[in-house]
Amino acid sequence: MISFPNQPASFQGGSVLLDRALGSFLGVAIGDALGATVEFMTAGEIAGRYQIHQEIIGGGWLNLKPGGVTDDTEMALALGSALIASGGWNPRAIADAFVTWVRGNPVDIGNACRRGISRYIADGSLCAPPADENGGNGAAMRNLPTVLASLASEELLIERSLEQAHITHNHPKSDAATAALARMTRRLLLAGEQAACNQIADHLIARHPAFGFKPWPGKTSGYVVDTVQTVFDGFFNTGSFEACLVRVVNRGGDADTTGALAGQLAGALYGVQGIPVRWLKKLDPAVTTAIYIQTQKLLKLSGPDIMATI
Ligand code: MN
Ligand code: MN
Repeated sequence: MISFPNQPASFQGGSVLLDRALGSFLGVAIGDALGATVEFMTAGEIAGRYQIHQEIIGGGWLNLKPGGVTDDTEMALALGSALIASGGWNPRAIADAFVTWVRGNPVDIGNACRRGISRYIADGSLCAPPADENGGNGAAMRNLPTVLASLASEELLIERSLEQAHITHNHPKSDAATAALARMTRRLLLAGEQAACNQIADHLIARHPAFGFKPWPGKTSGYVVDTVQTVFDGFFNTGSFEACLVRVVNRGGDADTTGALAGQLAGALYGVQGIPVRWLKKLDPAVTTAIYIQTQKLLKLSGPDIMATI
């Protein structure tokens, strides 16, 4: 049994799969908390102010407390809570959880997410109409709980990932990115295979050449193509959780979301044990506890075969 650095007192420790799953979910929150400080800054502005931004200090345009998180982590937790309360896959419960989250007056929200949730409130429909302006990263950024609850089948994971994505985003590039990131995270959680991630990235780029990231094209916006390129460049060109996140967030732009997605992949590969303890200690304790509780429950939703390995 592995015990995890900074784990809640009530927590018993667990398996390699649990280490990776917790690493991935904590990675989302830590990437969000670290990146939010420099969201919408340029790389030059970040270097001028911090040299290298590598501590969780809050601030940023949202004026966060150190360790505070934003919509990326909050929407993932909302999605996770819906699956746990439903005991399984339930898109309407996910949409309802997004509504509850919006009504709680969140610190920030993306345009497509706002539009999609407003549409659901107005007409109850679970699928946004296809739209060019829905190519943002908001569907991909919140999808980790779907992966944790759907490890048994890649096919089912992709189907579910697109279903939750379409509540707010219906766009071929968002769909392709959401599915590819989900497949990668699943392979990392089950087998720690970064090589498999390379193949999934190649497959994505073969079908959608816009996602090519070698050399890194230099864009960091919330457009899902820019986001994925920045995340892949960080993930495939570094050898630790810390190096990956520092490389990604110091590029600025949508740094909380590139940070969150880089944290999702790197956390799944390196586990909680690969996350710097100083970052784990800075994360909002309520978020840490929610992630520990949700991660165990979501993995159980992946079924008895997966649980046998925990
Ligand atoms: Mn955010
Ligand atoms: Mn963002």
